[in-house]
Amino acid sequence: MLCELCGKKTERTTRVFIEGTTLNVCRDCAKFGEVRKPGKKELTPQTVITKRLEIREKRMKPKDVYESEETTLELVPDYPRIIREARMARDWKQETLAAKINEKVSVINKIERGDMRPDDALVKKLEKELGIKLMEKVPIIKTETKSSTTKGLTLGDLVKLKKE
Ligand SMILES: [Zn+2]
Repeated sequence: MLCELCGKKTERTTRVFIEGTTLNVCRDCAKFGEVRKPGKKELTPQTVITKRLEIREKRMKPKDVYESEETTLELVPDYPRIIREARMARDWKQETLAAKINEKVSVINKIERGDMRPDDALVKKLEKELGIKLMEKVPIIKTETKSSTTKGLTLGDLVKLKKE
């Protein structure tokens, strides 16, 4: 016979109760479980689920902390003013800047009015040409929402969901 816990060949197995399951195990493994006795109070399925969730929660914690510290680069909200001021500080006309970064004057005009968000490639050209920073690090909001949802669900709620 094979031990259902360690997989070792054994002459005889003992039926024990481990983590909510009955297993036929070798003598060495039998000490990890409880020998099943009739009338003995068993762990209810709910207790087993709660135990597993507790283990899972402990395992997930370091990852959550890591995720909440994650940031993404985003275009600064007052990019029209920053671009305009940097251009004027150099005494350039919109035409001058447009020519330097190989864009239409109308594009510069729209960006400085805030009517158009420059794409990544354009942002890089503007930052380089004007010596400014248009991107800023912001925390990823999506992750915050996700982790607060997880926190909002109590173990009791999860057990209820499992039972339904
Ligand atoms: Zn074993």
